[in-house]
Amino acid sequence: MIIKQMQLGTDKVFCYILACEKSNQAVVIDPCGDENKILSFIKESQLQIRYIINTHCHPDHTCGNKVLKEATKALIVMHEDDERLLQEQTAKEYFRRLKFTPSPPADILVKDDDHLHFGDYTLLIIHTPGHSPGSICLYVDNNLFTGDSLFVGAAGRVDVPGGDFTTLLGSLKSKIAVLPDETVIWPGHDYGDSITTTVGREKKENPYLGGEW
Ligand SMILES: [Zn+2]
Ligand SMILES: [Zn+2]
Repeated sequence: MIIKQMQLGTDKVFCYILACEKSNQAVVIDPCGDENKILSFIKESQLQIRYIINTHCHPDHTCGNKVLKEATKALIVMHEDDERLLQEQTAKEYFRRLKFTPSPPADILVKDDDHLHFGDYTLLIIHTPGHSPGSICLYVDNNLFTGDSLFVGAAGRVDVPGGDFTTLLGSLKSKIAVLPDETVIWPGHDYGDSITTTVGREKKENPYLGGEW
């Protein structure tokens, strides 16, 4: 599997493009601005984008959905609980104030343990609520894309609409700490001392994953 990590947009979010090297079928995770850079990579590599997957609904992770969808005709995928959060008035106002381009409605609503296919690869949806009610991690081919649920040495903030600290800790312990130690973690922001890590390293060094709470 080809993994392209790009740091984009005003909030410097990590966008990922995952592609099957045989079929060129691909997915984009969290198109977060600078859509022209994402589209040039897609064109250069001759990729066919099947899905635009959002790890959660926050505007810095979804602001490229509109342009990407129009350009690629891919389907937007989001967890059903974050789609619901987007309809709540307080959340709507909070997100509107941030002035990012709003996402079109999701085409596919997913839940824990759902699967998406591109080329030879199957991507597993792991529901990890806490940073937002519908935050998801995406597990494929020994790689885990964690969005804002888990960073290198840190975890997502919970002082945002629908955020909850106890729920986040529960998700990290029951859904991520149980994965094989060699699982490679690709976070949603570059907040640590490296751009990627592993479940084994985070269990040792990250208090949110390995500590006693
Ligand atoms: Zn977020
Ligand atoms: Zn974020």
